[in-house]
Amino acid sequence: MIKREHTRVIHVGSVPVGGGNPVTVQSMTKTDTRDAEATAKQILSLEAAGCEIIRLAVPDMEAALALCRIKKELLKNSSHQQKARKREPVARSQNQKQKKKSDHSLLITHHSSPGIPMIADIHFDWRLALEVIKQGVDGLRLNPGNIGAKWKVKEVVTAAKEKGVPIRIGVNAGSLDKKLLQKYGHPTPEALVESAETHIRILEELDFTDIKVSLKASNVMKTVDSYRLFAQKYRYPLHIGISEAGPPFSGMIKSAAGLGILLAEGLGDTMRVSLTAEPFEEIRVAYEILRAVGLRRRGPEIISCPTCGRCQVDLKPIAQKVEEALRTLEKPVTVAVMGCVVNGPGEAREADFGIAGGKGMGLVFKKGEVIKKVKEEHLLEALMELINE
Ligand code: SF4
Repeated sequence: MIKREHTRVIHVGSVPVGGGNPVTVQSMTKTDTRDAEATAKQILSLEAAGCEIIRLAVPDMEAALALCRIKKELLKNSSHQQKARKREPVARSQNQKQKKKSDHSLLITHHSSPGIPMIADIHFDWRLALEVIKQGVDGLRLNPGNIGAKWKVKEVVTAAKEKGVPIRIGVNAGSLDKKLLQKYGHPTPEALVESAETHIRILEELDFTDIKVSLKASNVMKTVDSYRLFAQKYRYPLHIGISEAGPPFSGMIKSAAGLGILLAEGLGDTMRVSLTAEPFEEIRVAYEILRAVGLRRRGPEIISCPTCGRCQVDLKPIAQKVEEALRTLEKPVTVAVMGCVVNGPGEAREADFGIAGGKGMGLVFKKGEVIKKVKEEHLLEALMELINE
């Protein structure tokens, strides 16, 4: 059982992060933030995919001022979306179900826009930070050590404190301070943690502790070791991710390996999978990782057999069609796609629903029990009917 209650809790908008709350899934918009309409549209689609916190790049004042328009756009669309969307609470894993006392804290109900917390990603310019706080942003991603004069940091911290806006310190191996690179030779876990410590100290000296921290590198084990090292020293909640993970195939594997290790060790309070892909793919992968380590379940889990000499159907396109048909389902169900009617239902006994292909026909089953026999071309339709019953 994964134990993950050692960090303190902060709130990004109304979403709790840390302290054993469910690991939240976040992403970042890939639109030009100044294009409020396109950005709001992307946020809505990400939210529908299960995104719980959204980060936006704020490179200039025009982007900072666009936040207000983005919120308006979200507001315009939210009532429509609310009606269109069936809301399902996130299902708890078996492990979590056993924990009676924290039943409520283990559920996060999906927010409807404009409630999804928005984090502004800011580098260097304190004026942008002040402006986005004024615009009602829910969180900042900003490294105080990069802002410059202490009075500038103080102004930002004072405003953030007043509005209850937390700050994420985001250390990245690719942009480590020159002095640290000289000291350590290259971005080692020790260097990443020391960098985080420098930023933390600046905020703590201003009596600001509403902090979460990320320590990302594109190297999986370096990232893992950095978080491990940091967690030995601090209780600040952790935003975990593998930086620049890559194109979908390698990015998913690196994220699954790195974030899987961290989550299995109880590290990580909110996560982002970074992929060079459509942003909703990041959400899908994040939930698959959370499901794999038994922390959260959202949407269908599709299991399919590898096929063998007994298989009498072309299983690959069938599995792809099932995956496609279930893409928007929020209900946490396990669906099996098996290659033969003799062993399929039995082998997939644990699945909620399933189909098993035979020669020109197939079986539709529920919890290992055959419900009906249909022609091969009607298998998908029969399966969907059963799931939607
Ligand atoms: Fe082979 Fe049938 Fe098992 Fe698939 S379900 S691996 S086809 S025995």
